[in-house]
Amino acid sequence: MNAALELHLVNKIYPPPTTVTALRDVSLVVRAGETVAVTGPSGAGKTTLLSILGTLERPTSGVVRIAGTDTTDMSDHELSGVRAWHLGFVFQQFFLLEHLSVLDNVATGLLYRGVPAATRRARAGEVLEQVGLAGRLRHRPAQLSGGERQRVAIARALVGRPAVLLADEPTGNLDSATGGEIAALLAGLAGTTTVVLITHNAEVASTMARQVRLRDGRIVDDPGAS
Ligand code: ADP
Repeated sequence: MNAALELHLVNKIYPPPTTVTALRDVSLVVRAGETVAVTGPSGAGKTTLLSILGTLERPTSGVVRIAGTDTTDMSDHELSGVRAWHLGFVFQQFFLLEHLSVLDNVATGLLYRGVPAATRRARAGEVLEQVGLAGRLRHRPAQLSGGERQRVAIARALVGRPAVLLADEPTGNLDSATGGEIAALLAGLAGTTTVVLITHNAEVASTMARQVRLRDGRIVDDPGAS
């Protein structure tokens, strides 16, 4: 089996003064090309789990492997390299740069790859076509609908061809029809890109092949576990 992401007995305790235990003995293997929804009530640990999968937070104990490589002893610099080369991120807020065109917003996703500017833009154009925005390359973010903005953010996350796309409530700012379209776009990445998304929305969760449910920092339901 080819694992894209692996957590082994991960615990996360936020330090004092809060001292919250956000994850308890979480083990999770996500196979390459799998699509996974992480659900659960507010405070269950979903964002913490995604942050640890994305190497944005370190676990208090336990092991995190990205594409088979143990990240435990990596420096912050090495972890930022893992993010730049293997991971793409999408958030509820789109975090687009308002003064840049759609094309240049997506091209910024390759800034840390040492790719020449012309190649960055060419690759950005291709991935914008893939997400259905070939007709919007010269637009500014303010000239787009919410769904189109999220497509730009997804294109920016995909432009470096990451092995894994991590999405925190990607439909949270969208109406249900638009959110459904974005969920379908992400679900369509199955087989080529591993997708892990957090959602409160049962319909969005059902578009992913596997649903993992968290409660009080533990995985309480994971029918896809093997
Ligand atoms: P969810 O995404 O499911 O709502 P979170 O992962 O955001 O859950 O939070 C899990 C628990 O950890 C919550 O009790 C929250 O208050 C706490 N928590 C989250 N981030 C921090 C932090 N940076 N410092 C202290 N406690 C935190």
